[in-house]
Amino acid sequence: MRRAKTVFVDSDILVVGGGMAGCGATYESRYWGRDLKVVCVEKANIERSGAVAQGLYAINCYMGMQWNENQPEDHVRYARNDLMGLVREDLGYDIARHVDATVHKFEEWGLPIMRDPQNGRYQREGKWQIMIHGESYKPIVAEAARKAATEVYNRIMVTHLLMDKRRKRVAGAVGFNVRTGHFYVFRAKAVIVTAGGASHIFKPRAVGEGMGRTWYAPWSSASAYGLPILVGAAMTQMENRIVLTRFKDGYGPVGAYFLHLKTYTQNAYGQDYEAFWRDSIEQLVGDYVNHHPVPTCLRNHALLEEVKAGRGPIRMVTKEAFKDPHKETVGWENFLGMTIGQAVVWASQNIDPKETNPELTTSEPYVMGSHATCSGAWASGPEDYAPAEYQWGYNRMMTVEGLFGGGDAIGGSAHKFSSGSFTEGRIAGKAAVKYVNELGKARPEVSDAECEDLKKAIYKPMENYEIGRNEIVAGTVSPSYILPLHGLQRLEKIMDEYVGGISAYYTTNEPLLTRGLELLGMLKEDLEHLGAEDLHQLQRAWELHHRVLASECVTQHTLFRKETRWPGYYYRADHPKLDDKDWHCFTLSRYDRESGKWEMEKAPVYHIVD
Ligand SMILES: Cc1cc2nc3c(=O)[nH]c(=O)nc-3n(C[C@H](O)[C@H](O)[C@H](O)COP(=O)(O)OP(=O)(O)OC[C@H]3O[C@@H](n4cnc5c(N)ncnc54)[C@H](O)[C@@H]3O)c2cc1C
Repeated sequence: MRRAKTVFVDSDILVVGGGMAGCGATYESRYWGRDLKVVCVEKANIERSGAVAQGLYAINCYMGMQWNENQPEDHVRYARNDLMGLVREDLGYDIARHVDATVHKFEEWGLPIMRDPQNGRYQREGKWQIMIHGESYKPIVAEAARKAATEVYNRIMVTHLLMDKRRKRVAGAVGFNVRTGHFYVFRAKAVIVTAGGASHIFKPRAVGEGMGRTWYAPWSSASAYGLPILVGAAMTQMENRIVLTRFKDGYGPVGAYFLHLKTYTQNAYGQDYEAFWRDSIEQLVGDYVNHHPVPTCLRNHALLEEVKAGRGPIRMVTKEAFKDPHKETVGWENFLGMTIGQAVVWASQNIDPKETNPELTTSEPYVMGSHATCSGAWASGPEDYAPAEYQWGYNRMMTVEGLFGGGDAIGGSAHKFSSGSFTEGRIAGKAAVKYVNELGKARPEVSDAECEDLKKAIYKPMENYEIGRNEIVAGTVSPSYILPLHGLQRLEKIMDEYVGGISAYYTTNEPLLTRGLELLGMLKEDLEHLGAEDLHQLQRAWELHHRVLASECVTQHTLFRKETRWPGYYYRADHPKLDDKDWHCFTLSRYDRESGKWEMEKAPVYHIVD
């Protein structure tokens, strides 16, 4: 691949990742920047890419302001409570006040939203969720982005961001086409990173033939973190990984079951167990356990403790609800619209939820900024609402000039989900247009030498393979390279055993984290020796690079925060309690790629909504 063709693409705004936030960013950039060149680049095909690829059955973030159902402030209170007090209220409020307009657009573009036959409003699944026939959710949203973009480049894996020659601001990105192998240099005045969250950084429950069966999409490969981290963007709350209680083995979602079907959980002996753990949880986290709704992590904690006490498995009581034909239909359609695998698992395990109460379990941890946790980049807030300390330029701009983000990429603002991610992409797009307009003719300059160096580095795994394959000793093993899969499994093992994964019951401590960092350091050295047999493996190699860097960041943050803020997500055994006195704050990190060192600091949490 040394002779791979180089393709240059110039644009005003470059959107990296065409998922929910990326489609929102592309759409809105065109709205405000009629004459600008807006390019969206995606490693898959935006038609069916990202976490919504398979479709969804509910939009989880909708205020319903037209019917006075909720106000943006209510959503801020809800997210703050669920995150044990720590959210960027300015960012959350900003999304909540605009998210309804986004959902109305989805409906206009053809997304079928269910209606409540009694009052004609959108059918509520819960206080924030509305039900949709969403198998084609992503193609519908992608169509809007396709029409808005000047150009969409599918099948291009972005590997690095480019900085201006003077290093002061972002200048574009590079990557390669996973089908043709061409090398792409995207030069842009502003870049919006919307490359999704991270699965497969912790060892998943399903390994071997089942390793693709994870809750968050297996192709969510941490690029949203790996790309900004490498250019020195500050990250926040990266310790706040998410663990989900889901139907066992298929990761089928439980939201519709709890909220719409009104099913509930029991231990193996048919007992309600959550109330049993209330007092002991109060000793760990204080009054947070008395809040309503009980924060997600604390409910996980009760489940985990119950299983540890030997009263598992935990089951969802479906037998009663499934007697009602309407609820039975909803129960199955819920899976068919977004997690078909769960229906297949039940069929293969002889589980008919009318006859058998299915098992629940907790997932391996994931890192993301759009669901019930808020890991991601530290971003500037809205001019009219954010405290001065949270503003350093344009809305959703990271700490690197000209670099914006949305969805899973942006930290501090949980509970955005699909609609909120699209909305945040729109917010970032609008701000990026303003940035580009104010930049005028001053186009950032990209260094040709840097591009050439990156080109060499990007294809190196293919050269490693070409040379190393002559030394294969058995099967696929060669002494001079490691395959991306080997590297991935090594990463997952380190994170699992040292940073609080499933086999450690989500528990870690300072000595474990310190050793984990040493092992991650050795893994990073070995990434130089990745071997890629073909372009597909080359993509896997670069996904691994992003995952490793994000993992290192998660580990640094977990080490820095000396408390257990979210029992049920992870435990610092050496600091087992929540400590509001010292840790009611955000954690921030910054990576210096020259020295390989991380700088950590605290940032204040401002409570804007009472
Ligand atoms: C199983 C599951 C169930 C969910 N249920 C719901 C629900 O019921 N309701 C709801 O509202 N939300 C739900 N969500 C959440 C919702 O899907 C996410 O909040 C949302 O998709 C996040 O948007 P995003 O744009 O940040 O990431 P994504 O939508 O995942 O988009 C990221 C995009 O970046 C691309 N990309 C990644 N790396 C690169 C790279 N290096 N180069 C180029 N492109 C790249 C990816 O291919 C992808 O297209 C669910 C998610 C999952 C996985």
